[in-house]
Amino acid sequence: MAKNKASKKSGTGKKSHEPGAGGKATKADRGEKAKKPKKSKKSGKAATSRGAATGDDSLAPVPVTTAGSEDWTTPPREALAVGDGFRIADLDAAATPGWTGSRAEAEARLAALGEELSELQERLFAEGRSGGRRAVLLVLQGLDTAGKGGIVRHVVGMVDPQGVSIRSFGVPTPEERSHHYLWRIDRSLPAGGRIGVFDRSQYEDVLVVRVDSLAPLEEIEGRYEEINEFERALVERETSIVKVALVVSPHEQYRRLRERLERPDKYWKFSLGDLAVRAKRPAYDEAYQLVLDRTNTSWAPWYVIPADNKWFARLAVAELVVQALRDLDLSWPPADFDVAEATAALDAQQDEPV
Ligand code: AMP
Ligand code: MG
Repeated sequence: MAKNKASKKSGTGKKSHEPGAGGKATKADRGEKAKKPKKSKKSGKAATSRGAATGDDSLAPVPVTTAGSEDWTTPPREALAVGDGFRIADLDAAATPGWTGSRAEAEARLAALGEELSELQERLFAEGRSGGRRAVLLVLQGLDTAGKGGIVRHVVGMVDPQGVSIRSFGVPTPEERSHHYLWRIDRSLPAGGRIGVFDRSQYEDVLVVRVDSLAPLEEIEGRYEEINEFERALVERETSIVKVALVVSPHEQYRRLRERLERPDKYWKFSLGDLAVRAKRPAYDEAYQLVLDRTNTSWAPWYVIPADNKWFARLAVAELVVQALRDLDLSWPPADFDVAEATAALDAQQDEPV
């Protein structure tokens, strides 16, 4: 796809995020270190990888998806990182930072990435089954209609469901309310080998809670650092965190809410409360800004994704998750038995060994 796009110097997509000049060096480093374009083409996937440790072939690294990669003029992590001076209220939600391809090209790349994602997820799962505790946590934040559900369906939905744990966080139940706000988060973390997805998260406790004054301000003020420390401990326990803020423009949000009111099959997604939240958009922008200013850490950086184009948001999240998995440099767990002995024992049970 997009074989011959003159994509070298577009510059267009970078404007609103611009991590380049202002972005912290650590983030740039992170973005670059993992980027290692390979020539190799993706080969027929599961065929070689399912039979564990049957030969060198099965231990080959997963080829990095090349289809459409030339349409990213800036690697997704760099293009979507939060640079110094970034203002969420100024973001063009219809932009596609870093991406110069068309919608069709994005969809084609998403499909190709899905194969890599699926392959990497299986390795992570295998590692978890062998006692590994590494995990990936995708944190999805965004206002109503920003497309969190669509990300879960279209991106996370590309992998084997048994390797994924999805949790959504709504208004706290009486039980949740009786505990510290991180209690429900802590017990929802992905186990080793899993990709966890949070549809809303601990950040609601500094977003809606701040906007609607649901807790004393001094308490809320202390939460940012608390969340940073919570996430640091999580990363130390080998969970990689991918934090994504999906941003929809007020006009696109209006369109999507209107659709929910026009279509009986979408009524279930609508809540009158959505209108109240929408009416407080400036306060939410401010609350999100504080989140980005205070919790954009080197161990768990934020990515802000313009989400008026669903196809772009889905591609962007897929890129970020795949990159997080690539960074784990996953291989297959070695046999915890003697392969030759087991093979001989199996053959002994068979009249005609292969
Ligand atoms: P939805 O994701 O559309 O099902 O909506 C969930 C609702 O729960 C949203 O309006 C959130 O703002 C709200 N919510 C999530 N976490 C909290 C919290 N900690 N305190 C109050 N409201 C919350
Ligand atoms: Mg909702």
